Amino acid sequence: MSNEFDIIQKYFTRFPLREDVSLGIGDDAAIVIPPADQQLVVTVDTLISGVHFPESASAESVGHKSLAVNLSDLAAMGATPRWFTLALSLPEADENWLHAFSRGMQELANRYHTALIGGDTTKGPLSITVQALGTVVSGHGVKRNGARPGDDIYVSGTLGDAGLGLASIKKQLALAETDQARCVARLDFPEPRLQLGNSLLTIATSMIDCSDGFVADLGHILEQSGVGAEIELSRLPLSTVVQRHVNATADWSLPLSAGDDFELIFTAPAQNRNEIAGLIDSLDCTVTAVGRITQSSGLLLRQKNGELYQPEKSGYLHFE
Ligand code: ADP
Ligand code: MG
Repeated sequence: MSNEFDIIQKYFTRFPLREDVSLGIGDDAAIVIPPADQQLVVTVDTLISGVHFPESASAESVGHKSLAVNLSDLAAMGATPRWFTLALSLPEADENWLHAFSRGMQELANRYHTALIGGDTTKGPLSITVQALGTVVSGHGVKRNGARPGDDIYVSGTLGDAGLGLASIKKQLALAETDQARCVARLDFPEPRLQLGNSLLTIATSMIDCSDGFVADLGHILEQSGVGAEIELSRLPLSTVVQRHVNATADWSLPLSAGDDFELIFTAPAQNRNEIAGLIDSLDCTVTAVGRITQSSGLLLRQKNGELYQPEKSGYLHFE
């Protein structure tokens, strides 16, 4: 069995190298070189087994997801990722698990050229903490507080697939095999929308990544911007299988509050519509306008027949 130094050597020293890393893994701390004209953007997220990923999740997906959720936070600021650290608490040094975990993490790190520069390895219940560091042109980070009345509200990708995947794992409902595979993949391998976030730097007035559910996360933008919103439910981007579920149950809680989608929700003035439409061709995800920011506070969800929809629960809360 290997000690923590063997583990680090074996599994965590083959990540992308970057020239802006002056000192990487192996010393008491790392030294990095941020570009002079940019600001550092820093985020951290912990993933606990059974809370942030199902106990049945593959090690590869846990490796992917623990980095992906952090890169998603950087995306939501419009930042470009550069470096990350990894604090691992492991019940045992399971070589197979570590191999698959580091492969999942490395694949994503490679794609976004993000260097692992340090971390901590301890024995304990399975928990993974990643801290991601990125940069943004000084003063241009996209915050939650800039939405203005009249702005359009957009969301990337589709909503509710990860929630449907989780419901199927918990056996709360049954899906066809291919639908189940696709939804569980959305849950296990969320894709950080870095390209989109970055291209919205000078366009979006506010932005957030959708981790706790659309209503909850849009709610943060509304609260911090001191505005309200009106959403047309029929415009929410849904995959065929989520649409079918909503049609069958008349229940919108999957796309509205299930969470774990890691799509970007953002606002932009109406005069930027053409510019945003122009972006879409060059992006690896769709972007859909779903409503408008209003002066009066509160969130109105309008159904196709014009009536308002009252959601049961707004999103995932850890202490409720
Ligand atoms: P220290 O005792 O000085 O905190 P450690 O023995 O914890 O150092 O770690 C030795 C080196 O290995 C450090 O550079 C640390 O950042 C790195 N490291 C430890 N665990 C991890 C990990 N899980 N992933 C990446 N680097 C790690
Ligand atoms: Mg240490």
